[in-house]
Amino acid sequence: MQRTLPPPLAPFAPSVFDPTPFLMRRAALLRAMHKHGRGVAIIPTSRETLRNRDTHHPFRFDSNFWYLTGFEEPDAVLVLLISDTPQSLLFCREKNVERELWEGFRFGPDAAREQFAFDGAFPLESLDAVISEHLTGVRTLWHSIGIDADWDARVGRWLEHARNQSRAGKQPPTMIADWRALVEPMRRHKDAGELRLMQRAADIAANAHSRAMRACQPGGYEYQLDAELQYAFLQAGGHPPSYPSIIAGGANACVLHYTANNQPLRDGDLVLIDAGCEVSGYASDITRTFPVNGRFSAVQREVYEITLAAQIAAIDAAKPGVAFHAPHDAALRVLTQGMIDLGLCQGSVDGVIESGDFRRYYMHRTSHWLGLDVHDAGPYHEDDEWVCLQAGMTLTIEPGFYVRAADDIPSALHNIGVRIEDDVVITDTGCRVMTGDAPKTVDAIEQWMGAI
Ligand code: MG
Ligand code: ZN
Repeated sequence: MQRTLPPPLAPFAPSVFDPTPFLMRRAALLRAMHKHGRGVAIIPTSRETLRNRDTHHPFRFDSNFWYLTGFEEPDAVLVLLISDTPQSLLFCREKNVERELWEGFRFGPDAAREQFAFDGAFPLESLDAVISEHLTGVRTLWHSIGIDADWDARVGRWLEHARNQSRAGKQPPTMIADWRALVEPMRRHKDAGELRLMQRAADIAANAHSRAMRACQPGGYEYQLDAELQYAFLQAGGHPPSYPSIIAGGANACVLHYTANNQPLRDGDLVLIDAGCEVSGYASDITRTFPVNGRFSAVQREVYEITLAAQIAAIDAAKPGVAFHAPHDAALRVLTQGMIDLGLCQGSVDGVIESGDFRRYYMHRTSHWLGLDVHDAGPYHEDDEWVCLQAGMTLTIEPGFYVRAADDIPSALHNIGVRIEDDVVITDTGCRVMTGDAPKTVDAIEQWMGAI
């Protein structure tokens, strides 16, 4: 049966770049840093990496760097000078007619300063000189230690140089602090512009999942569904995927990070797809599980309905003022009751949760932050307490139920793996599901896949 595929979403024209939100973030960060005395902060973007021989992985900017700058080129560093008159400086590649002919447009310092509203911008080559000029007489050097050994070594040389000048009466910094501790908590709260991009990423991914459901045929291959997802992402401007897509037929659904995606899809099996795209760096992350042939078997339906009830309980529990783990706790109770009902676990819900027996069938947590990174930055614990959900925070809700084949489990349940994942934003009263356009109930999926 050949079903009609839904068209991809229409492309959406990029809006004119506005440096205001980035300026506001830098200003907020500079204020927070100033409480730690005068300082200098070094915030580089990521570097280009080789894939093989002379071919590079597609470049992706560093999320923290981009969050503070909006600048997307490689070989760039944001330097913050923290004092009573704070300054944001960009170090980037110079204009180069020859290289631009081969590799494309570069802003160069002058245009970058203007477009991105920096207080100053300089060629990358002048970084060492400018840092040494500003590193004496400040108390704190802000650096994200341990991400990149080359940067750690370079910062070490700067410090050594500053110390060597102490005989001339200049004080080197006495504190080294990690700016991620200030930036990453900021990233948990999305502003209206960020939420618009995330909604767009959610809409494109929901469309892609709907498309894959309709394209699915017994005898097809997992990678063919990946092709449908990628087509919908690319056509709508939601590219690249925000993480390697998981297309897991049958028993593969019980492998949590299965990405081989090379197996045939069998009549009578379920297929689990966990895939999302990026829009201007912002990720979506959706999982849907559906029957390869479009109809749930009785036992598949049972496991699916339990997982869906757990997901809905978790969505209901996601609201401002509750601890981050509240949706997980809500989902876990429903899943555990389902495991007991199916004879997979014995005892009471509290007893099974206490003993941890549920982990045989549900071994991950229900939520993670979502944003510029699919597992977004920002702590889950602060001062030994779980973070409380607040309006503007974005997270996934993704309970799962995985039954591997085993001698002590009825064979009808073998190799059923279900995960249902939506992206939500916390509102003033509860949460809003951003990814609801992808069919989710048993009826909605069967209808969607049954239509021609
Ligand atoms: Mg996911
Ligand atoms: Zn996820």
